[in-house]
Amino acid sequence: MLAKARQLFSLPAKAIGIQNLLRLTQNKLILPFYHTVSDSPLPHIAPLYRHKTIREFKNDLEFLLKNFQPVSLQDVDLHIKGVKEITKPSFHLSFDDGLQEIYSTVLPVLKEKGIPATLFVNPAFVDNKRLFFRHKAALLIDKLEKKGFHRISTPKDNKAKEWEQLILTAQYHQETRLDELGILLEVDFNEYLEKKHPYLSIGELKRLSLNGVEIGAHSIDHPEYQYISLDEQLRQTKESMSWVKEHFNPKVNAFSFPFTDFGVGNKFFEILENDINYPVLFFGTAGHKTELNANHLQRIPIETSTKNASSVIASEMLSSLLKKGIGKSVITRTA
Ligand SMILES: [Zn+2]
Repeated sequence: MLAKARQLFSLPAKAIGIQNLLRLTQNKLILPFYHTVSDSPLPHIAPLYRHKTIREFKNDLEFLLKNFQPVSLQDVDLHIKGVKEITKPSFHLSFDDGLQEIYSTVLPVLKEKGIPATLFVNPAFVDNKRLFFRHKAALLIDKLEKKGFHRISTPKDNKAKEWEQLILTAQYHQETRLDELGILLEVDFNEYLEKKHPYLSIGELKRLSLNGVEIGAHSIDHPEYQYISLDEQLRQTKESMSWVKEHFNPKVNAFSFPFTDFGVGNKFFEILENDINYPVLFFGTAGHKTELNANHLQRIPIETSTKNASSVIASEMLSSLLKKGIGKSVITRTA
């Protein structure tokens, strides 16, 4: 078994084929997620990750629809509760961060193809009131590039590398560092918010919700949970969930962790369970993996590489299959 699994692992997932992977896998529900889709350059995103163009996004959806059936957030919830089983290969699509293109670009595609989705938003950024600190970092990098610094540094531009490091390593609690660099590099974050409207307005969110897009919470202003206290993790979760309930009254209260759920302990879930703003579904970003708590689901990030959804999903499924089949320790050893 072990030798066979090792042999399998050395094969590219694509060569095995999605249909064969689906025949072997028990968990038929996959949860791919994106942030945004655009044919135009997005300076607040580009230095952070590669978003898809409309054509690439449509190709991903065509692959998904060919191999999986789209299900709603309610279907996912009923499946988790054991009310309605998901037996056929299925997917539920979601988007994080409440970015503007979800209304202008993504919604028409979803409607055309009849795909339900969930959008996780940060109340602090809605209506372009504030810029997410990582988007500030991206704008600073963009400005450096416009000033002639290049991302791939040669020994000659060590200075550029230093600046880049300073910007990209700034954490949530170091946002003032980014604000100061904004002044130095003459990047006006407020002007960017006013002119470019990178985030959705409350009106657009309402229209999305009327058009079959469920709204979920994504914390108030996107801290990385492993670096904040338990009390602050709870506050960020409860207040953002309560905001979503107040404005959209969703059928299912869902929450996606900002960045990652790495470092979030059992205590967090135990305390939240007794709260009025308890999310009934939690979403992470760790790939096609299973959690001990049935209502904590892991999603597959599709924007992490230049690969298309078919190869990202096939490798996630293969890796999950092998971990189940031969035990986690073996995978750790061979990796
Ligand atoms: Zn996010």
